[in-house]
Amino acid sequence: MGAVPLQFTFVTSAKRHADLPASPGEVAFVGRSNVGKSSLINALANRRQLARVSNTPGRTQLINLFTLPGGGTVVDLPGYGYAKVPGRERAGWQAMIEGYLLEREALEMVLVLVDGEIGPTRLDLQMLDWLRANGVPHTVVATKADKVKPSKLATRRRDLAKACALDPGDVMWVSATKGTGIDRLQHHVQMLLTT
Ligand code: GDP
Repeated sequence: MGAVPLQFTFVTSAKRHADLPASPGEVAFVGRSNVGKSSLINALANRRQLARVSNTPGRTQLINLFTLPGGGTVVDLPGYGYAKVPGRERAGWQAMIEGYLLEREALEMVLVLVDGEIGPTRLDLQMLDWLRANGVPHTVVATKADKVKPSKLATRRRDLAKACALDPGDVMWVSATKGTGIDRLQHHVQMLLTT
């Protein structure tokens, strides 16, 4: 497909989307903590240190923005569903994310990460319902494909898509560890940000 690593440059972290720099077009990654978001972003860039940027203490709860050479931007939204986060902080997270998703003009597509091994959690389904209800364009990306036995993959694909109320062909499967589906997703992001 001719996809090449996405040449991310880390630009900034912000607490509010209003503090982000303007962008001609943006793709955002969202998912519960531990879904494999940092690993995936690193795999897309074919680099290791980007995860460190987003996982630096103090930055995990912020909106992290990266630019690509063509001018488009990629946003790593804070992971949701930390077990021990108090209600007040959760409410803050929600306001931050919802504000970003509803008001960020440059936003072209939200990539919603779902753990391919365990399927969508209650919080993932809430996020998908919310995106649908608000008409925010989104694509489900199933992570950790390598954790599913090849003999189970077809069934798993069908079940995960069904649980998300999607057709199997609408879900992109990736493995950051094995590199599966990475070139396709690189291509997808490039297409979204160049059209
Ligand atoms: P984040 O919290 O969403 O940023 O998740 P991380 O990228 O830090 O990954 C969470 C855990 O899942 C780590 O232990 C990773 O090594 C593991 N992980 C991430 N991607 C994959 C994958 O594609 N395959 C497998 N087997 N493990 C993965």
